[in-house]
Amino acid sequence: MRQERACVFNIQHYSLQDGPGIRTTVFLKGCPLRCRWCCNPESQDFKIEEDCGFDSYRQMTVDEILKEVEADEVFYRHGGGGMTVSGGEPLVHDGFIIQLLKGARERYLSTAIETSGAVSKKLLLEAAEYLDYIYYDLKSMNDKKHKSWTGASNKQILSNLKVLVDTCRTWNCPPRIIVRTPVVPGFNDTKEDIIAIKDYLKSINQADHELIRYHRFGKSKYEKLGRQYPMGNAVLDDKKWEILSSL
Ligand code: SF4
Repeated sequence: MRQERACVFNIQHYSLQDGPGIRTTVFLKGCPLRCRWCCNPESQDFKIEEDCGFDSYRQMTVDEILKEVEADEVFYRHGGGGMTVSGGEPLVHDGFIIQLLKGARERYLSTAIETSGAVSKKLLLEAAEYLDYIYYDLKSMNDKKHKSWTGASNKQILSNLKVLVDTCRTWNCPPRIIVRTPVVPGFNDTKEDIIAIKDYLKSINQADHELIRYHRFGKSKYEKLGRQYPMGNAVLDDKKWEILSSL
């Protein structure tokens, strides 16, 4: 049965962080992972938490979302801005996300997605046909650590990435794939961890790779949800970040 509505927990206007130009980022609720450092804990659960202090949840149709995105069109003209879909994990919303991306294409809007890669391969490839930019998270090559820090194995994520890179390479107008690694203290903040990821990307001929520095912006949201912040007092020191980001 087609999903008519999806739960949107935020629509961020004038965003400069989620792709080229000025973008409107649509955050969909629900994620298969539980990363300890997640800065959007309100995005994780598929159901809406009761009395959680977040009042921005909206059940929206594809048309309602696109209407709000299109209202910002004037800002997209310079710098190639457009719509970015994020989460949570936007690709868990199956047919809905395809309709949303198709709708954006029909309106000549640039499209980007932020994905954990922990999704169906078939859906990932189908979505790629309607995307200009894919920001794909690759957190760790160490499966044991990956399971313990995100709640899931990295096997599907690695295999999906290789198939995505190989498939898109055969297309005339492929999306640009940018792999992102959040650098998280105690998890993957060593030279070995980052070099292992870079070596893997080289082996599959994936060039674009960015490191994202861990921050603690999400801490107060955990308190709002009545949850303990899983990262405690961890911080990523400047020196370490400097070394890792120069690799
Ligand atoms: S994949 Fe992203 S949204 Fe999902 S738990 Fe991890 S950091 Fe949060």
